[in-house]
Amino acid sequence: MADLLVVGSVAFDTVRTPFGKADEVLGGSATYFSYAASFFTGVRLVAVVGADFPKAHLELLARRGVDLTGLQVADGPTFRWAGEYGYDLSEAKTLDTRLGVFADFRPTLPEPFRRTPFLFLANIDPDLQLNVLRKLERPRLCALDTMNFWIQGKREALQRVVAEVDALVVNDAEARMLTEEPNLVKAARRILGYGPRIVVIKRGEYGVLMATDGRFFFAPAFPLDSVYDPTGAGDTFAGGFMGALARAGTLDEAALRRAIVYGSVMASFTVEDFSLNRLLRLEPREIEERYHAFREMMRLEQ
Ligand code: AMP
Repeated sequence: MADLLVVGSVAFDTVRTPFGKADEVLGGSATYFSYAASFFTGVRLVAVVGADFPKAHLELLARRGVDLTGLQVADGPTFRWAGEYGYDLSEAKTLDTRLGVFADFRPTLPEPFRRTPFLFLANIDPDLQLNVLRKLERPRLCALDTMNFWIQGKREALQRVVAEVDALVVNDAEARMLTEEPNLVKAARRILGYGPRIVVIKRGEYGVLMATDGRFFFAPAFPLDSVYDPTGAGDTFAGGFMGALARAGTLDEAALRRAIVYGSVMASFTVEDFSLNRLLRLEPREIEERYHAFREMMRLEQ
């Protein structure tokens, strides 16, 4: 049963970190999201690629059971993103964004997709996010991610879609830019005022802050001794978070908190290698082991 729908980018990424370089590798917000979420629930993907996109990349998603009937193959080049990170790996500097086939993309949803209970609007043009949201019949939970590219370039369209979602999942720099508020606690409250009832702020190696109804929950990042490439950490987090919620089937505070930890677990794998390489080697057993290590690490009483 496919419970979770994602619309976002499927991309070729070129990434430079102080620890290595990857050229034109598999990336994209919807790619990381759907691969991560597939460990928890059935996933449906809506996106577009160009004719230059290798079938082998799509097979990686299909092998995880991701439903690709909403993926269009269009004439023209696949979306491409190039970025680099400094030594602290905290924020990607975008070197190049080429929309390619996304410039003229009109999402068409296969009929059964319209009744998917969980929706994730991954980082993509906010007009496309709204287009997909409007096509769904009352999802139980709709969450949205975005980035500086869209906050600066399409603020009004973004504000429109933010007002209609249940949850916003962004990183700290995006939360500050969106609200024009440097203090993250105030930024979270301001976002709650825009409409969402759940705000999740990802803070890289400093963990994740969730605000719901004036309550805060904080989870640290999993301590790792080898981090190679943070690309996709945010989308993988979101995939684990939404996947765990769809699997749990409840949306109470306890389920949200567990989902935050599952999201953090999934992100901790992605950053251990370039592209989706670590996720491709991931065993479900490792997810549970790290989840339990997380709980142990966060426990106050011995
Ligand atoms: P993150 O999880 O935040 O590190 O997101 C990284 C992914 O976002 C990369 O794989 C990129 O292909 C994708 N990406 C970068 N810029 C954009 C954009 N403007 N729109 C959609 N996806 C993007």
